[in-house]
Amino acid sequence: MSARAGIVVTGTEVLAGRVRDRNGPWLADRLSELGIDLAHITICGDRPADVEAQLRFLTSEGVDLVVTSGGLGPTADDLTAEVVGRFQGRDSIVDEELERRIAAVVEPLLKRWRGLDQAAIEASARKQATIPAGADVLGPAGTAPGLVVPPADGRAGPTVLVLPGPPRELHATWHEAVASETFGAAVAGRSRYEHRMLRLIGIPESEIAETLRVGEERIDGLDTLEVTTCLRRGELEVAVRYEPPAEPAWEGLLALVRERHAPQLFSDDGTSVDEQVATLLRESGATVAVAESCTGGELAGRLSGPAGASAYFAGGIVAYADEAKTSLLDVDPALIARHGAVSPQVASAMAAGAVRRFGASAAVAVTGVAGPGGGTEEKPVGYVCFAARLADERELARDLVIPGERAEVRDRSTTLGMHVLRRLLLGAPAPT
Ligand code: ATP
Ligand code: MG
Repeated sequence: MSARAGIVVTGTEVLAGRVRDRNGPWLADRLSELGIDLAHITICGDRPADVEAQLRFLTSEGVDLVVTSGGLGPTADDLTAEVVGRFQGRDSIVDEELERRIAAVVEPLLKRWRGLDQAAIEASARKQATIPAGADVLGPAGTAPGLVVPPADGRAGPTVLVLPGPPRELHATWHEAVASETFGAAVAGRSRYEHRMLRLIGIPESEIAETLRVGEERIDGLDTLEVTTCLRRGELEVAVRYEPPAEPAWEGLLALVRERHAPQLFSDDGTSVDEQVATLLRESGATVAVAESCTGGELAGRLSGPAGASAYFAGGIVAYADEAKTSLLDVDPALIARHGAVSPQVASAMAAGAVRRFGASAAVAVTGVAGPGGGTEEKPVGYVCFAARLADERELARDLVIPGERAEVRDRSTTLGMHVLRRLLLGAPAPT
């Protein structure tokens, strides 16, 4: 059996939802890459009793490794090192060499401030240098060191890896931790896994479930693959994890999905639609512009996201008001009056306007009823029209009703806009 781990995210601001947890998901990916099974992610506030309760829970679950995030700073509510040390049966000691290193990190930062209380600074450095005896010290990436804390001699239980909360510091400290001997010893039993990802568009989860049922009969060893499907931003992701001997079963599954869902399968190598569009644009030397209403700039956000996007992304116009569609994208007011602002005709005119105004070789346009309250019987909330167009007037259009609330409609419209553009660039038919 593979080594198992748990993650404890600490921070009252994370518990309250003021800060969205970025460390739990990041650590989950890293553990998965290392072939360590993740059993739980728990979130608790900055209270020693609560942090300790999480450690007790994960220990009772028999995990080999606990990774904690946060609570290593100089303030009184930063208590993780102390709680973990006590939990592992280790005394607290002041690591004087570490104290000097922290002082050296802090000194240049403090030059910018005048009249700071020297005694308070020294007390902070001393607090952050107070660590469980026998722990491995990592970093510090900021001022807070990470720690690898095995149980004291003669005690059972998981090794606890203590990481700082700020994501950049957590990443740096994690990479150092993974190289440490104590960490390696804690997860010695881990397996090596292969990870694959299939992405499909325009297909319900039930269709893949059916394909997996068919696969059970046709493919030897399909049950040795760990398959998880999830709907994300309007796409269906099929994540597959397996140990190397199960490679033929993976190949069988891939062939079956290709056979049954060829038009919907757009990625079998882990790439996202955003990356594929970026590659298509980069390789063809094309430039692209955006005209959007109901997605409020999110499509421009997606297109401009990849590094190097300035080579192909000309820009975008967010035109909510009819007047803006007319004055900024040259949409004929008579067209809007005749068909309505949310119509395939207006989407097409917006795309044509964006190509012209930006002098781009391609453009994608979205106009829709994101609601609530904006819908009619004929054009309900969620009715969205897309058009992607090349300078030579070749065009791909699509309109549909997207179910869900406002945020979902916006999100899925953005994804579909990327797919309509991708299909146009590939010369393929529009996604269904
Ligand atoms: P510091 O020395 O900055 O206090 P710390 O290790 O004590 O470091 P925390 O106090 O828990 O870390 O968090 C500091 C800041 O880092 C938080 O205010 C937040 O902005 C960010 N942060 C902490 N944990 C997370 C998390 N799980 N996800 C995203 N950001 C986080
Ligand atoms: Mg803190």
